[in-house]
Amino acid sequence: MSRFKADKYASSDKSKLPEERQKPTSLRKPLARLHQEFLRPYRLSFAVCLVGLLVQSLLVLPVPILQGRILDMLLPFAEAAKAGKPALAVSSQVMFGIATGLAGIVTCQLLRTSLSWAVSNTTGRISQEVVVELRAALHKKLMRLPMAYFDAQQTGRLMARVTSDVGSILSFVNSGLLQLINDLILAVGIAALLFWLQWRLALIAMVVMPLYMINQKIFSGKIRQLSKAIRSQVSSIYALLSERVSAVRVVRGCAQESNELAELDKRIDHHRELSWKNTRTGALLGLLATLITGLGTMGVLMGGILLVGRGRLTMGELLAFYSLIGQLYGPIVRLTQFQATAQSTAVAIERLCEVLDEPETVTDTPDSQPVIQPQGAIELNDVHFQYQPDGPQVIDGVTLNIHPGMTLGIIGPSGAGKTTLLALIARLYDVHPPTGDGEILFDGQKISHWLLADLRQQIALVPQQALLFEGTIRTNLAYARPDATEQDLQAALDIADLQTTISRLPAGLETAVGERGVTLSGGQRQRLALARSIIAKPSVMLLDDCTSALDAETESRIQESLADRLPGRTCIIVSQKTSSVRNADQIIVMDKGKILEQGTHQELVEFGGWYASTYAAQTSAMTDKIYDEAA
Ligand code: ADP
Repeated sequence: MSRFKADKYASSDKSKLPEERQKPTSLRKPLARLHQEFLRPYRLSFAVCLVGLLVQSLLVLPVPILQGRILDMLLPFAEAAKAGKPALAVSSQVMFGIATGLAGIVTCQLLRTSLSWAVSNTTGRISQEVVVELRAALHKKLMRLPMAYFDAQQTGRLMARVTSDVGSILSFVNSGLLQLINDLILAVGIAALLFWLQWRLALIAMVVMPLYMINQKIFSGKIRQLSKAIRSQVSSIYALLSERVSAVRVVRGCAQESNELAELDKRIDHHRELSWKNTRTGALLGLLATLITGLGTMGVLMGGILLVGRGRLTMGELLAFYSLIGQLYGPIVRLTQFQATAQSTAVAIERLCEVLDEPETVTDTPDSQPVIQPQGAIELNDVHFQYQPDGPQVIDGVTLNIHPGMTLGIIGPSGAGKTTLLALIARLYDVHPPTGDGEILFDGQKISHWLLADLRQQIALVPQQALLFEGTIRTNLAYARPDATEQDLQAALDIADLQTTISRLPAGLETAVGERGVTLSGGQRQRLALARSIIAKPSVMLLDDCTSALDAETESRIQESLADRLPGRTCIIVSQKTSSVRNADQIIVMDKGKILEQGTHQELVEFGGWYASTYAAQTSAMTDKIYDEAA
């Protein structure tokens, strides 16, 4: 289980959005945070890995030296044989020397391979565990963040960032961190050994190093920019594709297929140009790097030959020197490139911490109480609300008293604040200053008095857009109550007037509804979403225009069965149609966040205001339609 406690982030105070914040330049602080929150339990394993890596790196060094020694021991025999002299007797001392050298090389290689296997196994396991905990912490946090956070974020971008940032932290923990330490040890060890073997040659080898590093720095900067541009181009291609594929009906409906293809081609062309440029730059970098190292090794070779000629260096030492130089460049290149990895990892950690640090404003307190005997009474006292502190008033002094079992209809023009009012009752937003004022009560207590999970179980909000999850009709239905019985499912389907439709499907409840339920019609999706809420057995149902895709007859049938089969349930129906609310016990007309009219259907018609004129207009439109159809 995750050792991470999302609660400890609840009190953090960050007001800026992640994009607005400065990007970090150093890895130190983000790494300390990562260590504090996620890596701490693995400290011992990391330390063991580090020792293993240290030994593994140091085991690289004796191999060229031993190879050189063996060569030096063999050379006199080779020279004698070449000069046609009688074969020299191989002394047992030489034999022993060669055998020990070879045994040393094999032991070093075997030890290195086993250590490398053990270290990568351990780091792989640690990084997977860290990632699981990170993802669990993020998921938990996202589920608890207030709606206002999601209002300010693009969900798609948030998800993409969360997955790619977690990925880059995974690769950093998996290999980056220990690779850095490994390279540092190797670079220092090899350089020290080179100077110990022959400082003059070592100086020659080092002369080209600055050139090499400058070359790397210049080109890796360019390559980094190009890779960034390529990544963003790829995401723009994916974004276009996913948007257009999911809205393929709109594309076809507007006959925009060829324009869409042209736009896609443009983006793919740009991506190809960037990729080609990236390949060319990489090839040029490789060419120059080979030239520079070639220059260095040529210098070493020439200097080495001179020193061998003067008897200051043996052939074996020259060989050892030569192969050690070959091993020095790799770690140095990686060290020069580490800055870029460090930067992107630091940014990734910071971004994730920003999500984790977001304050959970709509949350439980230690005094929150469970809902034991729900009645379903809702009361609003002079409620004011705006989405942003400096934004317009969306709810402007609403006072309402909804008794248990009552049906309230809310009607009004688009943008009047009807959906917002339902969101406030469901406590998706709090009405605290600076964005709200007044109080909302459930069963006589402020909604913040009740445990949030209990409250949300009692107050079911059915939004207009019927979102269904990937899966079958059964999994969607049982979403809010996984322990629902077959009887519960059938009863809910019956109330939502879906039983006949589903019994006609060959797979019945097991029918896959696919991504966003494309196999069902709009009205069927809405009825399924309604049935899903009914199964949860809430005491208050908030129906936000959730029967808009249904014909008047089906809608009134569903409303009647809701009233008959779920007696005592409080119901708030938001709609644009007077036919959807006319049977409600009370109807309110809202505009600009205020209640303009209130009463029963009859009272409001007699009052002769907005409701009466809308009712008249909608009834005559309906009558015209019936006449048209009859003609
Ligand atoms: P209705 O349901 O009556 O059509 P809403 O409650 O959806 O009205 O919207 C009321 C007002 O609040 C509108 O002006 C709308 O633009 C604004 N609004 C709705 N949701 C948000 C949001 N998440 N952030 C900012 N403003 C919003």
